[in-house]
Amino acid sequence: MKIYISGKLVAQRDAKVSVFDHGLLYGDGVFEGIRAYNGRVFMLDRHIDRLFESAKAIALEIPMTKEGLTRAVVRTCKANSIKNGYIRLVVTRGVGTLGLNPYLCKKGEIIIIADKIQLYPKKLYEDGMAIVTVGTVRNHPEALNPRIKSLNYLNNILAKIEAINSGVLEAVMLNVHGNVAEATGDNIFVVKDSLIRTPPPDAGILKGITRDVVIELARDHGYEVREETLSRYDLYNADEVFLTGTAAEVIGVIDIDRRPIGEGKPGRVTRYLAGEFHKLAVTSGEPIQ
Ligand code: PMP
Repeated sequence: MKIYISGKLVAQRDAKVSVFDHGLLYGDGVFEGIRAYNGRVFMLDRHIDRLFESAKAIALEIPMTKEGLTRAVVRTCKANSIKNGYIRLVVTRGVGTLGLNPYLCKKGEIIIIADKIQLYPKKLYEDGMAIVTVGTVRNHPEALNPRIKSLNYLNNILAKIEAINSGVLEAVMLNVHGNVAEATGDNIFVVKDSLIRTPPPDAGILKGITRDVVIELARDHGYEVREETLSRYDLYNADEVFLTGTAAEVIGVIDIDRRPIGEGKPGRVTRYLAGEFHKLAVTSGEPIQ
């Protein structure tokens, strides 16, 4: 595998970062997870825009233009003959001292990995997944805003540990007010009487690109979608619940905290939106050439 690092494509064994990189020492950096379908990079412009916004929020200067970065992503996919895959785009603060001061880091480091995708098993999409709400509260937006897709994912990892220890694969995190925020790597939607609802960005969530695409698709297909505060009560009493994310796409949830959701299998709206999303994903995007 060829990795893009420090402006070059190098063999995987030569792709190394310094132990003084603040991405490693402090989780000081930002990233994107991106999908390629059918020889095209899906929603690459939106991922690049979000990366630059995350970087701006932490005063990190990305040492490349948006156009340059777009080309570098496509080049990395091409070098690895990726047609369908998962791309990890990382920008760290770069090499500094052992102190926190980010201004002593000379230059941000850009890393691009284009790999095969590790999907949830097909059966999980057909049968739906069980999840739990967990005690780990999603980061307070005034402490570390979840809109910043930073390299510090410990908040999510702590919630993931709780989920796995409870025997399920995913956790729903609540915010400091006890309202629903999001899953550890996905956004969450509920459907009740054909009305689709999802927490607003100020609930303290990552504004997922899949989330936004699903909202647009649902509205285009005549559904009403509201960004609204949701409680656990709304989850338990939903007809359908589904998660959205670059890796998971759209996946139905059939059990939350041992309460069966709806009829205990992925519902009509979930299946419809999953299908429409997939249709869009395999027919649009930045060509890998
Ligand atoms: N929330 C969190 C915390 C995430 O890490 C992700 C995916 N990386 C998402 C939501 C979904 O975002 P997207 O649809 O842009 O992949």
